[in-house]
Amino acid sequence: MKLSDSIQFVKGIGEARAKLFARLGIHTAGDLLFHLPRTLEDRTQTKPIAELMDGETVGVCASLAGGVKSYRSRGRLSVTQATVSDGENMMKVTWFNAPYVSKTLSSGSEFIFFGKASYKGSSFEMVNPVVEVFDGENKKTGRLLPVYPSTAGLSQTHIRNAAEKILDGLTELPKDILPSKLCDKMSFPPLYSALKELHLPKSAESFEAARQRLAFEEFFILQTGIHTLGEERKKFRAVPINDVKCIADFAKALPFELTNAQKRVINEISADLKKNSPMNRLVQGDVGSGKTMVAAAAMYAVAKSGYQATLMAPTEILAAQHYKNLKSLFEKFGFETVLLSGGMSAAEKRESLKKIKDGTAQIIVGTHALISDSVTFKNPALVITDEQHRFGVRQRTLLTEKGYGAHTLVMTATPIPRTLSLILYGDLDISVIDELPPGRKPIETYSVAEHTRQRLYKFITQKITEGRQVYIICPLIEESEALAAKSAVEYAEKLKKTSFKAFSVEVMHGKIKTVERKEIMERFARGEIDILVATTVVEVGVDVPNATVMVIENAERFGLSQLHQLRGRIGRGEHQSYCIMFSEGGKIADERMKIMCKTNDGFKISEKDLELRGPGEFFGVRQHGLPELKCANLASDMELLVRAKDGVRELLAADPNLEKPEHLALKNRVRERFAEVGENGILN
Ligand code: ADP
Ligand code: MG
Repeated sequence: MKLSDSIQFVKGIGEARAKLFARLGIHTAGDLLFHLPRTLEDRTQTKPIAELMDGETVGVCASLAGGVKSYRSRGRLSVTQATVSDGENMMKVTWFNAPYVSKTLSSGSEFIFFGKASYKGSSFEMVNPVVEVFDGENKKTGRLLPVYPSTAGLSQTHIRNAAEKILDGLTELPKDILPSKLCDKMSFPPLYSALKELHLPKSAESFEAARQRLAFEEFFILQTGIHTLGEERKKFRAVPINDVKCIADFAKALPFELTNAQKRVINEISADLKKNSPMNRLVQGDVGSGKTMVAAAAMYAVAKSGYQATLMAPTEILAAQHYKNLKSLFEKFGFETVLLSGGMSAAEKRESLKKIKDGTAQIIVGTHALISDSVTFKNPALVITDEQHRFGVRQRTLLTEKGYGAHTLVMTATPIPRTLSLILYGDLDISVIDELPPGRKPIETYSVAEHTRQRLYKFITQKITEGRQVYIICPLIEESEALAAKSAVEYAEKLKKTSFKAFSVEVMHGKIKTVERKEIMERFARGEIDILVATTVVEVGVDVPNATVMVIENAERFGLSQLHQLRGRIGRGEHQSYCIMFSEGGKIADERMKIMCKTNDGFKISEKDLELRGPGEFFGVRQHGLPELKCANLASDMELLVRAKDGVRELLAADPNLEKPEHLALKNRVRERFAEVGENGILN
């Protein structure tokens, strides 16, 4: 069998199963070989029944102590039941909808049952245990088993069997893309042994060693690609901004005193701006910590020195909001601010483009329209991206390239693991705004059940009467934006006709045209709308301090970080704010609700999020327009990452375009992986 053979050549895989594999992106034998398990399941432990503990998952070696009963329950489920004995004690075993176990149970005398032992009344019981004849050649029990990412209809056994057959039948070895010297230095096992160990693990230690080998490889590919993407940028020199002391004048003109944290971060940025090597800094600050003012201070110093400063936001609404605020702020100083975003008319765009090009505009705000080819800057010196996690790596790089050596600042409310920031930005500096403006009252957050709804509506009515405004976030519908929009509209209609007849209720969702969306947001900001029923389009950055109540429907469907982002829309002004979440429960959901009710601290929340979701899903690199990591763990593989980075640096120093024949396989793999996420032009 060859690596490129279709998996339908593997015994036991027919057309139907091949389709299931295809859903996981597995089409060839080679694909399956590189479909790697996430974890191990330890089935080596067996115990006598006398030593079992309630709730533990364990193997029991036992024989039948009587007949096997099979019947259909009233719910039409097929049930198979037996009592088994290990010679001293008995245990009950039950299977639902597994008629085939009768056959297994009639094909031997001694068996291993592996499952969760529960103590019921007077004896132990296992429901749906894995069972096989105990004959010294066990496949399913008594050993370590790999656990793969899978899809509905495709069992772990299917994947395990297929992987085993491929390992047996292959007549060629996969190409090792890591330089062999590096593998020696890292004491890695050869690629094929590592793959074999992952699919047929011998011990937890050797499995981990093999996993590290492949995790390192993933980091290596990722770093090589990113390095190539970012290469352009390094050639540029930045414009040194000599006068940063002038920021004091800016601060004096503000209606409030900057917080100490804001001052500290502005100082850190100022020190960077003075240099002629580009600033590469990330500003982390929880929602409402006042990142925009920090950005504005830097923009002020740049404009004052006669250069242009740009702020790029991920959505039209956010760009419009920044534009409005910065325009009125900078008018006082005689600077011109322009907006450039996709939703503008052709004439408006032309006007902005002209001012960007001839230098009339010093302060430039926009969406990713700013990275289109038609934009030419006169003398740019600073590029800021807000809520950076919404942008792909490529988009940011492009803006920086356009900025021609500009100082770069990225701002985010979502703390990202150090590993990920290293991957995304390289060795960037981090500033943290760890203080909220004074007078902010912590948001009171409650998780409530359906029966409190009428009471909540009364509360909302009272708050609106007091002059406040309300967000109601609709249930998250993942199937499609169109469905989500429909449900939001219906929901708003219902509220308009029933509980909130007396008020102005508007709806906001992703299907509404950008211009209209902006207009709705402006009316909401002016206080003309009492209740805004919205999908998650309001999630990022929107600032209406008078809105103090947020209701989140079906909160169990949202992740922690997203709930926190949503909640960040309130608690932005002088009045006490309230966040009320309706949740249908579930174990993880309950855990999330508890955390939301307990803390307003974004850093704590994101830590918890990482823990609850598992590193694979958390803030995946995929979201940033990079190939997904399958083996590497962003929470715990920091050291591997650092070593991979060093390795890549060394390799590219010797062979920048990977032109040496021994690097061809690596080059191809980097191209392949990045092509998967639409990055086709790298390493030509
Ligand atoms: P975020 O960090 O979420 O982007 P913003 O920059 O939108 O936060 O700021 C939130 C609100 O706090 C804005 O209305 C802003 O004007 C206000 N603000 C910022 N800094 C201060 C400060 N030092 N004192 C009082 N209010 C401030
Ligand atoms: Mg913001």
